[in-house]
Amino acid sequence: MVRVTFLGTADQIPSVKRNHTGILVNYNEENILIDCGEGMQRQFRIARLNPCRITKILITHLHGDHVLGLSGILQTLAVSGYKKVLNIYGPKGIKEFIRKLLDTFPFRCEYEIKVEEVKGKFFTGEYFYLEAEEMSHGCYCNAYSFVKVGQRRIDKVKLKKLKIDAGPHLQELKKGKNIKYKDKKYLAKDLTYVEDDLKISVVLDTTVNERIVPFVKNANLFISESTFGAELKEKALEHNHMTVVDAAKIAKKAKVKKLVLTHVSQRYEANLKDILGQAKEFFPDSVLVKDFDSIDV
Ligand SMILES: [Zn+2]
Ligand SMILES: [Zn+2]
Repeated sequence: MVRVTFLGTADQIPSVKRNHTGILVNYNEENILIDCGEGMQRQFRIARLNPCRITKILITHLHGDHVLGLSGILQTLAVSGYKKVLNIYGPKGIKEFIRKLLDTFPFRCEYEIKVEEVKGKFFTGEYFYLEAEEMSHGCYCNAYSFVKVGQRRIDKVKLKKLKIDAGPHLQELKKGKNIKYKDKKYLAKDLTYVEDDLKISVVLDTTVNERIVPFVKNANLFISESTFGAELKEKALEHNHMTVVDAAKIAKKAKVKKLVLTHVSQRYEANLKDILGQAKEFFPDSVLVKDFDSIDV
């Protein structure tokens, strides 16, 4: 199971109810923080999550609402005995940005910080990989996908039918190898199946561009900004954003399973149903999250 926790769901200006952006993707021991707006440390505390468990930080772009919490988190990790290598990934400019940040707020840091400017598939682990795609926001900006690769599973019903008991031969099947059991040959493809991939895509702060649909294609969760409603289309364009209706149309085209709206403007706080309704009109399986909501996939 992958758990996505929304630690901040505001846009540029945080409100009483909404903190700057932060999305935590948890899978086993992996905790990937996507963007780190102001106030993120307290959001971790309130959510009863430990920032020392963070394994990677992915930054979409360098606007304040996405990075103002970084220096605080980095310093807290330093005084909390963080022992891991902290990988920070971002678009072009992230290396220089982190270097300047560490110069501006000097602190004793005994853990290693590795910063990488990324595009395309940039991390491949045993069970998942991470991908970045360039967005259009008037500055270098990345969208990210977390993809848990479908594993080969044994079809227990078929095993029972064929009276194949447990044993080391099942490990062979899991590896996709054919087996011999009680002098009979069995093909792995007949006794196993491969799960679907599980994909979570995060697209924050961008105008509509032709790269989004292929990038979020078939995602289980398509997490999108919702800074502007359709009635402010011109303003959205002027500020290099898309509207919720744009996001919903992309969700439909890309055949995603669920559209998750975040990065919500305070102008919609009193009528969230309206903005969610705009999305639902084009893509019914849309939700709008608030701080500390989590979604299990
Ligand atoms: Zn933003
Ligand atoms: Zn921005």
